Amino acid sequence: MEKEAIKLYFTGLSANERQALIEELQQLDETGKGIPRCQELRRSILDNKQGCCAHCGHTKYVKFGKDKGAHRYKCKSCKRSFTEYSGTWMAGLHQKDKIDAYLQLMLEEKTLDKIKETLSINKKTAFDWRHKILSSVEESEKGEFTGITESDETFFLHSEKGKTKQGRKPRKRGGTSSKKGVNSEHIAVIVTLDRKDQMDLTVAAAGRLKKNDIENAIGKRLTSQTVLCTDSHVSYKGFAIDNQLEHHPLRSDLKERVKHGVYHIQHVNSAHHRLKKWIDNKFWGVSTKYLQQYLNWFRLKETLKESKQFVKDFAKMSAQDVKAYQRYTMLSSRYEIIKSTQS
Ligand SMILES: [Zn+2]
Repeated sequence: MEKEAIKLYFTGLSANERQALIEELQQLDETGKGIPRCQELRRSILDNKQGCCAHCGHTKYVKFGKDKGAHRYKCKSCKRSFTEYSGTWMAGLHQKDKIDAYLQLMLEEKTLDKIKETLSINKKTAFDWRHKILSSVEESEKGEFTGITESDETFFLHSEKGKTKQGRKPRKRGGTSSKKGVNSEHIAVIVTLDRKDQMDLTVAAAGRLKKNDIENAIGKRLTSQTVLCTDSHVSYKGFAIDNQLEHHPLRSDLKERVKHGVYHIQHVNSAHHRLKKWIDNKFWGVSTKYLQQYLNWFRLKETLKESKQFVKDFAKMSAQDVKAYQRYTMLSSRYEIIKSTQS
């Protein structure tokens, strides 16, 4: 509809109808302001010198013309050029005009079918975009654990959801392992959180957790201020000794729940519960290959739950990451590594 026609329509309305329409439009305007503009965000990060070279990470670069409509930059260190999309989750995407609406719908946790229908994209594209985006936030908002820090593992049954299986009967969602005890069908996820806002969720191993798995997941994020609370798992004990941490292991076999009123792992156990519920209810279980991706998503949901502009915050973080595309292409090999840790 042309602007003149809209005006004509508007003046034809009664005073009450006009008022109602104005209010609706104002609301629409507010909603529109909340929608992320991923490409604009990316460009403004680069143009305000807050970005870095997509090849070497250097922070000094200059504008360097255009490449098929995309802004191009040249690194002052490695001398290579890159576009505003290089390395990001937006690299190589067709239909870039749909990515803002896509991100909005994804973070509203709409199903792939719903997104496919709303945006007229195919379901495979909707799935691929989800995982490109989720590859981008893996390292965002990761600081140090300070003060009392709870850590505990939880298990997900190995799943090849989405893949046609041969030779093995598909297991029902949330089913049980065919073998007794913790075994290679159990994928260990380490969840760690302090009592401020730091959180980590890492797909650690297939089978029992070892000291090194804990080291790889959270070793770099500890300080001398970290006070570790865990169950009495021997791997955690070894990890705490290696890192010279104050450590409070809880003996669940003795029904020991809280020590000295503050040392417990109840927050982390309740995070396990929320995580499993979310994955079961929203996605009907997820494939092990993509599990880390959903953990990234869950972590940001939990970390930013107080934020009134979650989608914008998320968009900003994801637009900053120039390692996202590479991480996305490595999903399969990372999955193979996890499978090979079977014990
Ligand atoms: Zn460079």
